[in-house]
Amino acid sequence: MEKYDVLVIGGSTTGSWFARKMAEKGHKVLMIEKEEKKNISRAYDIFHMSKKEMDQFGLEIPEPGSKEFGFTFEGSPVMSPFGNYAKSGKPATVVGLHKHEYILFMHEKAKKAGAKIVCGAEFTELVFGENGKVKGAKYKTSKGEKEVEAKLVADCTGIPALARRQLPDTSTVENFRLTNRDVFFVVLYYVKYLDEKVRARDLDASFLNYKVWSAPSGEEHGAILGVGGNYGYDYAEEIFKTQFRKNVKWPDYKVEKVEKGLTPYHRGIYSFVDDGFIALGDTACLTKPTCGEGCTSSLVQCEIAVDVIDGLLKEDKALSRENMWSINCEYIKKQGIAFDSMRPLLMGIVSLSPKEAEYLFKKDIIFSRKILGNQGEDLDITPKDVADILTGIATGVATGKIKPTTVGAIAKGLLGMVEVTNLYNQYPDSPAGYFEWKDKADAMWDKIGSMADKCDKEILRRLGY
Ligand SMILES: Cc1cc2nc3c(=O)[nH]c(=O)nc-3n(C[C@H](O)[C@H](O)[C@H](O)COP(=O)(O)OP(=O)(O)OC[C@H]3O[C@@H](n4cnc5c(N)ncnc54)[C@H](O)[C@@H]3O)c2cc1C
Repeated sequence: MEKYDVLVIGGSTTGSWFARKMAEKGHKVLMIEKEEKKNISRAYDIFHMSKKEMDQFGLEIPEPGSKEFGFTFEGSPVMSPFGNYAKSGKPATVVGLHKHEYILFMHEKAKKAGAKIVCGAEFTELVFGENGKVKGAKYKTSKGEKEVEAKLVADCTGIPALARRQLPDTSTVENFRLTNRDVFFVVLYYVKYLDEKVRARDLDASFLNYKVWSAPSGEEHGAILGVGGNYGYDYAEEIFKTQFRKNVKWPDYKVEKVEKGLTPYHRGIYSFVDDGFIALGDTACLTKPTCGEGCTSSLVQCEIAVDVIDGLLKEDKALSRENMWSINCEYIKKQGIAFDSMRPLLMGIVSLSPKEAEYLFKKDIIFSRKILGNQGEDLDITPKDVADILTGIATGVATGKIKPTTVGAIAKGLLGMVEVTNLYNQYPDSPAGYFEWKDKADAMWDKIGSMADKCDKEILRRLGY
């Protein structure tokens, strides 16, 4: 039987990066990808990563004019619901890349580092040892079924989380399946403006209240208009039509192409590791809460994982739950608290009516440069910030700009933010305290609820959800 240090299941952004880095450290790596090479990552064409993050993770920016390269642009503001106020973050160069081509580029880098890659290889089941620990996996290709042994199996299969979901209930890694309430159905309209005088780049923006954005498509007079929503593509499209298009003045366009895809919209799983196993990327629900992007946020986790696992392998130590636990602890501190504490606040924010949100944009309350410019990264909300928000809202209520009923939702969001931060700061430093902590965390998230609870009830009813 073939034996590897690391078996990576799934060869998109997360799997390819992790396979490459582990191979660069000198370990024996096999990556299997279900799709044949020509079909990998074809769901949508253009994706973006900030140049800063690409540099941080050693992701090469292909030459302009190459088949992988799309374009670069200088970020975009968050807009108020009626489009009157814009909040920009720190200026940042964003790189638009062709997904399929860039993933193959990443495969080449992983191969060059020494990883073996098999495409058209579909993972079927985890293999457990007599001690109940993961010891390998089975996969099938056109030539038949194969079983391999590995010291570590890394699930990078994205939303289906195919290996994670085969773990037993006693695992420290949760084995739940993401439902249509836990993902965003994303619809991308590639549009061309009818008036040639419209410069698409001047319109780049995101509209948090409708989960709608306009991003470059690479065409001077064209853009990608995107919308995301829980439950189904039809729900997202309905929000786009009945709310965004109704409230925001936008130049006329014709739709040239439509793409659809799913992104997780769920808190990160509580533990990534168990004996011989790790869940990485979308499998672990690590997308940015403000925009659903996950390519580089996953690499924050992968980078920590590479360091810890490389150290253990070099010292010939077991890749056990205990030995890999520091990956969970470090991730929570580095990104997990910022991302997951943002979720309740965002749920409070979307409870506002467009008029109320417009007022808060104007006054730089909640929809502030500090919060919106940050995209959930390194966000340090101080008690003074919370006090300022509450004072601002109280003024809004006193002047009739904000309904008293909305205040409850915002307050719940802010309290949720504080509660998540406090509990995640008590994350156990070893697996010993994990299940007790998990019970508390489950109870907290039950109370906080989900973004899906904030969907428009009337639209859901009309669509039959
Ligand atoms: C429309 C849309 C636009 C987006 N735009 C951006 C963006 O601009 N920037 C950004 O950062 N994020 C973006 N995202 C989110 C981003 O796509 C994901 O966060 C990212 O792709 C996650 O990567 P991953 O490798 O973890 O999972 P995936 O990309 O889902 O990769 C999983 C891989 O596993 C393979 N696989 C599945 N089952 C098996 C099996 N049984 N055996 C073997 N292999 C298997 C799949 O074929 C796939 O290659 C977007 C999402 C959508 C839906």
